[in-house]
Order: sequence, then C-alpha cells, then structure tokens
Amino acid sequence: MNWEIIIGFETHAQLSTVSKLFSGASTRFGALPNMQACAVDLALPGVLPVANRGAVERAILFGLATDATIAAQSVFARKHYFYPDLPKGYQISQHEQPVVRDGTLTIEIPAQEKAGQAADQKTVRIARAHLEEDAGKSLHEDGTNSSGIDLNRAGIPLLEIVTEPDLHSAAEALAYAKALHALVVWLGICDGNMQEGSFRCDVNVSVRPSGQPALGTRCEIKNLNSFRFMEEAIQVEARRQIKLIEEGGTVEQETRLYDPERRETRAMRNKEDARDYRYFPDPDLPSLVIDASWVEQVRAALPEFPDAMRARWMAQYGLGRADARCLTASRPLAAYYEAVIASVSALQGACDQEIAKMAANWMIGELSAQLNRDGIEIDACPISPAQLARLLARIQDGTVSNKAAKDVFHQMWEDKARDVDAADRIIAVKGLKQISDAGALESIIDTALAENPKSVEEFRAGKAKAFNALVGQVMKATRGQANPQQVNQLLKARLEQ
Ligand code: ADP
Ligand code: MG
Repeated sequence: MNWEIIIGFETHAQLSTVSKLFSGASTRFGALPNMQACAVDLALPGVLPVANRGAVERAILFGLATDATIAAQSVFARKHYFYPDLPKGYQISQHEQPVVRDGTLTIEIPAQEKAGQAADQKTVRIARAHLEEDAGKSLHEDGTNSSGIDLNRAGIPLLEIVTEPDLHSAAEALAYAKALHALVVWLGICDGNMQEGSFRCDVNVSVRPSGQPALGTRCEIKNLNSFRFMEEAIQVEARRQIKLIEEGGTVEQETRLYDPERRETRAMRNKEDARDYRYFPDPDLPSLVIDASWVEQVRAALPEFPDAMRARWMAQYGLGRADARCLTASRPLAAYYEAVIASVSALQGACDQEIAKMAANWMIGELSAQLNRDGIEIDACPISPAQLARLLARIQDGTVSNKAAKDVFHQMWEDKARDVDAADRIIAVKGLKQISDAGALESIIDTALAENPKSVEEFRAGKAKAFNALVGQVMKATRGQANPQQVNQLLKARLEQ
C-alpha cells in the first residue's frame, strides 16, 4: 500500500525582549538558578501581570511578515496543568482569540530532496500564532538525592506558531522549519539559538493510505531542537505508524519523545485535549487591543525581505543568483554589503556594476574566509564597509592589482586599522602601487628585450612560450607591480614593430 505522510508544526520561538512577558525580570540566558525570577514569576500572592509591549510588537511583526490577520482584540487565557515548574498552576497563553491568524509562509524544497512530484516552492498555511509564557525547569542534581526548581525561564515570552497539516515529507518539514527559523531571525524577533532553546519545534505526524480523504490519527513529537533530529524523528515516527497499521494495530493519539541514540520515538503521555486544560480568559489581564495605527507603526519597522533584496541586487548590480543568496544568508551580512555599496556611491557619485560585483566577490571570498578563520561574525569584522569600499575603488582605478589588494586587505585586517583611508596608507607604505605609467613601462620593456635576445629570437621564430617568458621578465623587473594586461599590450606592440 502507498502511504501519505501528513505533518503539522507547533513552534515555540522565544521573543528577543529584554524583560519577560508579564514581569520586569531579565530574559538573559545563562544566569544562576532563580536569579531572574521576580515575585510575578514566583506567583507570590497579590502580584499582577502586565503585558510586555515589545513582545506584542514582535508578534505583530511576525503577523505582517506572513500576510496574516492581526486581531484587533485578542485575549490572554489561563491554561491549567500541574507541574512543579509551574508555580501558578496555570500558564498564561492565548486560546480562542490569538493575536495572529491565517498567515502563510512560502518555502523552497531543495530539488534533490523533493518528494515525488512536489513543486519546488510550496506555501504553508500558518493557522495561528499566539503569545504565551514559558514554564520553569526542574533540576535533578546528581548525588544530592533532591530536585530543585529554576524559575529563570518562567515567564519568558514565546510566540507559538502553529501550521495547518500541510507538509508531506521529512524534507518538506525540514524546509519549513529552516524557512521559519530564517524568517524570525531576519525579523530580529528571535535570536534563533536552538542550543539555548530559543527555537523549539513540536512536530505532529500522521499517515494515511494515499487517496484517503480523512486524516489519520496523529502523534506529537515534542521539543525537537535540532534540524537533524527533526528530520530523523519524522522518518522514524512515520515508519513506526505505517508498520503498526500494516500489522493490524491502530495509532493512539499521544505525545512522544525522540531518542536520537536509539533512533526511536517513545510514548511520553496521552494527549490532553483542550477540556483538560480548563482554559478561561485571565481576569488579571485586559484583552489585548491592537489598533490600526499601532499596526502601521510596526509595519514601518518591517525590514526588506531577502527575496526582494536578491531580486533588486540582481537587477541593479548584475549579481548572480548564487552570490545574491550568499550575501542574504543573514541580515548583518546583507547590511554590510549595502553599506559597501553606499560608501562607493558616496565616493564616486554612483556604484557601477563592476565595483558592485567586485564587492560581492570580495565578501564571499576573502572576507568570509577570514571571518571563518578567526571564528567571528560579520558584526565583529575588523574592516569596515567604508574601508573595503576604498580598497575596491583602488583596484577599479588601477592603482593596485588584485593580488596586491589582497596584501592590503590582510594588512588592514591584522592591524585592525581604524582610519577610513587605510587602503591608501598601506599601499603607500608597502609600495604596492601598480606601475601603469606607459612611459616607465616601455623603458623597462626595452631593457628586458635587450637583456633577453634569445627569447626575442624564439618569439620571432613563432614560439608562443617565449612571449610569456618576456612578460615574466618585465613583471620581475617591476617586482610584480606592473599591470599585467598593460605589459601584455605594450610588449606585443613593441615586438610587432
Ligand atoms: P490541538 O488543538 O489538539 O493542539 P490543533 O488542531 O491545534 O490541535 O493542531 C495541532 C497541530 O497538529 C497543528 O500543527 C496541526 O496542523 C497538526 N495536525 C492536526 N491534525 C493532524 C494530523 N491528522 N496529522 C498531522 N498533523 C496534524
Ligand atoms: Mg494546539
């Protein structure tokens, strides 16, 4: 029998606010246990929650970026369950009226992993995105025979992003998770750090015989915080369900955990349904009202998206698609490229395609290699966009050869040069200026010809190689500072006289 796999995602993206969703406590990662838990997070009697405006704005930004409906009025609800890391006995979330509804996210599925006839691009429906607070964490200290509770995470703002069951393979699911991750990071609403738990996915998986209209019973695999485990878990879980049904069993709706060591999913608990949670509107919080002017204010802060940026660069600067994709790998990298272009424009009145492409090549080549070697991000790059722009201008106007420019680049990098004209300074100090004065070159060429009569003879006898030997002599005589193209031209002209 042919089976179809159906997948839906519930992703918790930690919002990048400085303080928590309903209290002023810090959200900084890595503090000692309970150093960042205030009276509200501890659920002491008499305290009241106040919604964090910055968290709401990040949710609006996400809604705008996914073409969703932003609810003019949404409601915070209490979701009840009992667990030691939840001192209130309920989590504040949103249930019936989430802040964001009916969005879409377009994903690209890599061609080689494409499942069957699936198209390269696919639009995934985002059913909803709602604000909720995170819970604390139980610490089971080894050897002390006791457990502790750390409430630093309690109250951390999360945006839970829920898709419709629109994905049909592990490859599609992975493409979605990566696209969503890239989007929230690009928007700057989440730092995307998966190791620190800033981006966690619960993946719902079901299977059905191909052609059957009704959905099969799903299992939810909780807390997948690496792309690799996500892909494995989906494959393993789909296989488990198919085998179970083919052997005459039925899938129970439940929450499962993925064990990467044993490459299997294991039942964790039966799935609660909404009734178990006894949701009701939180009487301590007024409904969240978002008027049109607030939405417009947030819209003004929407960054340009990578697709649009790539299309613009390809049209305006003649960049290839692959290069444009490289430079939009992150927002700071894209911003650096734009800053180089802006510097060139300021210097020259405009930025032509030649230098714009040169800038792209230098960033993808030399600059990225150097960042990798030093293990730093573009934000910490010791060469500023303005400094790079000036170096590129010197290559373009023939002051330095490409080879000498690399030398200048490395010197600037090592020096952590601060002066904007570092390139000119280094070119002068190291004597890297290219000789392109025709008169000076001609006399060097004449000397070379006089000193190498054998090569001249061979060239005249039709030996092409002899020409290269003569070019080599000239380059040597100028210590590599002649413009090779110009040497070629002048030498040819001289020999043909
Ligand atoms: P609940 O209210 O029980 O949390 P939802 O309807 O909100 O259920 O769905 C939770 C997630 O499960 C969504 O991402 C949804 O797309 C997905 N989902 C629902 N039904 C199925 C199914 N049969 N197979 C796979 N995923 C499903
Ligand atoms: Mg749900």
